[in-house]
Parts: sequence; C-alpha cells; structure tokens
Amino acid sequence: MRVWAHDRWPFPLPPRHTYPQSKYGLLRERLIAEGVCGPGDFIEAEPVRWSELIKVHDVALMGRIRRGQLSVREQRGLGLPWSPQLVERARRSASGTVQAAYAAFQVGVAMNLGGGTHHAGRDFARGYCLFNDVALATSRLREARLAQRVLVVDCDVHQGDGTAQLLRPDPHAFTLSVHGARNYPFKRIPSDLDVDLPRATSDTEYCAALESALATALTRDGYDIAFYLAGADPWEGDRLGTLGLTKAGLRRRDALVLDALRGAGLPVCVVLAGGYAPNIADTVDINAATAIEVAVRRTSIDRGGPDAKLALEPRDAA
Ligand SMILES: [Zn+2]
Repeated sequence: MRVWAHDRWPFPLPPRHTYPQSKYGLLRERLIAEGVCGPGDFIEAEPVRWSELIKVHDVALMGRIRRGQLSVREQRGLGLPWSPQLVERARRSASGTVQAAYAAFQVGVAMNLGGGTHHAGRDFARGYCLFNDVALATSRLREARLAQRVLVVDCDVHQGDGTAQLLRPDPHAFTLSVHGARNYPFKRIPSDLDVDLPRATSDTEYCAALESALATALTRDGYDIAFYLAGADPWEGDRLGTLGLTKAGLRRRDALVLDALRGAGLPVCVVLAGGYAPNIADTVDINAATAIEVAVRRTSIDRGGPDAKLALEPRDAA
C-alpha cells in the first residue's frame, strides 16, 4: 500500500521532549517489516505553498510562522521550539494529507503517516499543531471541484478545537470529535458534535458512544469525503490521555469507523494525529494496526497502479 510520509525531515527538539518524533520513522520500518508497505511505497509530498495556507489560516499568523516571529505566548502554546526545519516538516505533513485525500477518490481509503494537526485554527497554532491539514485539504478539494461536503471523524483523545473553529461554521462540513472530557484543550471551541468521555472509558463504552455518534453524523446530507483522525492517544497507557482503551479496542475502533464510512460510500482519508505512549513502540503498534485496517479496505491495488499519477498532483513548490 502506498502511504504519505515526512519522517525524513526531522526538526530539533530538546532531550526528553514529549513530542514523539521518532515514531514516524519507526512506523515506516514497522510497515515494511509487516509487509503492509514496500520500501518504495512511501510518498514524500513537497511542502504546501504559503499561498495555499493563507486560504485557510490568518495571513499574519502565517507570516510569523514563516519568519520565526511567534510571540512568547504563541511559542508556549505551540509546545515545539520554532525552527526552519519544524516549519518545513509541518508543510510536508499537511501536504501529505492533501495528496492522500486526492488519492482516497481512487483507492477508497488512503493514509498519511502524519497530519491530524487539529489544534491549529485560523489564527492560532497550538498543541504541537502549526497548520490544520484537514481544513487545508478541504479547501484544495473544493478548488479542484473534487468534493464540497466533508465529514471529519476525530478520534484523537484531545478535542479538535482548531478544526471546529475552521469547519463548524461551514455549512458543508460536519465535525465530530470523540475525546476525553478531562483532556486538553480545556477551553473548547464546539464541534458540530462533541462526545465527552469520562476518565478510564473502556473499549465497549467507547465503541458504543462512537457508533451512536457516527450514526448521527451520517444521517446528515450526503458527504463527498470523510477524514478520519486515528489518534493513538485514547490508549490506556498514554501519557497525555485519560481514556482506558486497549490496543484491541483501538483496532475495533478503526474497523468501526472505516466500515461505517466506507459503508456510506465515502472515500476516506486517514491521518495519524497524536499518540504519547511512554514507550514509543506502543504508539507504533497502534498506528501500524490502523494502517493494516486501511490496507484491507482498499478498493484497488495501487502499487504503480491507478493513483500513481496522483503522487504528483497537486504539485506544490516552496
Ligand atoms: Zn491528541
């Protein structure tokens, strides 16, 4: 299976920082080891253009990010030290979601091994998120007239405040966020549908709540595409999560979401979002399981196949 990756563009981080930068490279290795992807199946998108980013984000904020002029307060909210490498990586990650979304129309389900940066809003970049990849992909798909109506299913343990700010007012977008009630962000921006789950919510309770929320979301008017944020942080051992899902439960969650969305006939673009297990191998286990669930649901074999040209389309230059 072909997937999008940006792990070869690292950025400087202080030692013992919570951000799990190494998971992306480890995930690449794991997917090759498990035979989910061949070594040539990792597509590395060019950085998204600034002219595209300012269609979604505040132009002044984009200027501050580009030039490294975030205020002390903004820097603290972001939680990652600014560097040109950080910005380049984030532009590549966002671009991967755009390209995976295009590919979803060809192969049914496509995956970016990155993205899900849902705390980035129009005029704020926080919680490790510089750019909102899903809002950006929505904007690009609409311009290309590939899609108008989008559904966002955000299963990261943290509420998708940036996505809510950008897409909830949009009459052709529906944002669903299923998350820990006592998790960041503590000041919420409401989604179309927010599901707040209590501390230590189990697999069964989680899947029941998710199933009912998906049913509600899918009773709305037809959508053209769905985005699935398959956060690994609802896992019981996660350092930044409050829920109690097991790895098997997370896999059931992935299957449930993908079957519901594919059952509704929607192309699905899957992105990683968060995951902060004390041992990064646990986060990699969860992300790899998601990739396997994606791989078995693809409608065509794409190795050098029908979506090969989509790797080059849309082409973004710096
Ligand atoms: Zn998260």
